[in-house]
Amino acid sequence: MPGNDDLRGELLSLLGALKNHVAGERDGIIPGSRLSRRGAGRPRPEGALTGDAAGSAAQTKPSHGKGPGSLGAVREELGDCTRCPLHRTRRTLVFGEGSPEARLVFVGEAPGEEEDRQGRPFVGRAGQLLTKIINAMGLAREEVYICNILKCRPPGNRNPQDDEIAACEPFLVKQLEAIDPEVICALGTFAAKTLLRTEAPISSIRGRFHDYHGRKLMPTYHPAYLLRNPDAKRLVWEDVQKIMKIL
Ligand code: SF4
Repeated sequence: MPGNDDLRGELLSLLGALKNHVAGERDGIIPGSRLSRRGAGRPRPEGALTGDAAGSAAQTKPSHGKGPGSLGAVREELGDCTRCPLHRTRRTLVFGEGSPEARLVFVGEAPGEEEDRQGRPFVGRAGQLLTKIINAMGLAREEVYICNILKCRPPGNRNPQDDEIAACEPFLVKQLEAIDPEVICALGTFAAKTLLRTEAPISSIRGRFHDYHGRKLMPTYHPAYLLRNPDAKRLVWEDVQKIMKIL
């Protein structure tokens, strides 16, 4: 009888959802979230990030509280940073935000005016577009992690300088080591150039995965570029779809 089949299907579906919920609670994750998991025994790829945080290699699972190798420890070490001249002009240090267990991390260039004011990454117009892109991927901002190469705003949003990158990038490396994502999405020329140590234009390296210390890195256009060049949204959508396929 068709009615009985429908009911049976509905019950099976409810049972499946209940099982997922129980598994989610057991693992301390949000049920149904595609990204809020942490594979407890996920092997660290060979050539994973080096740096002080890698000293906690004995850990089989990264800690995200205050312990060594955790995001909290990285934030603590960064402190009220004065390691480069940008500390003199910043209003707020913008460390980054999102899930400390994210499988996907977006890395931009540096905070802008609104980010400097709010102390949060990607909250201006470009940030709102990034949020839309994340949502279109079927995700929430809280499920990914968002940060920048530089934690402080360059005056007038000028390009970051070499000494500023040299001072700040080690903390990004430690953040990535603590989060241990599967995919990094580099937003814009500057982030891609810095992370991949290349002078190649974003137009020639976007759209395919590159190796970043054993992790997959997808360069794509910065949302601020998309605000000026809406036609490029299609290309960014193609790029993030490739990320979605492996998450
Ligand atoms: S940009 Fe980075 S290194 Fe420079 S003051 Fe800010 S946090 Fe420190």
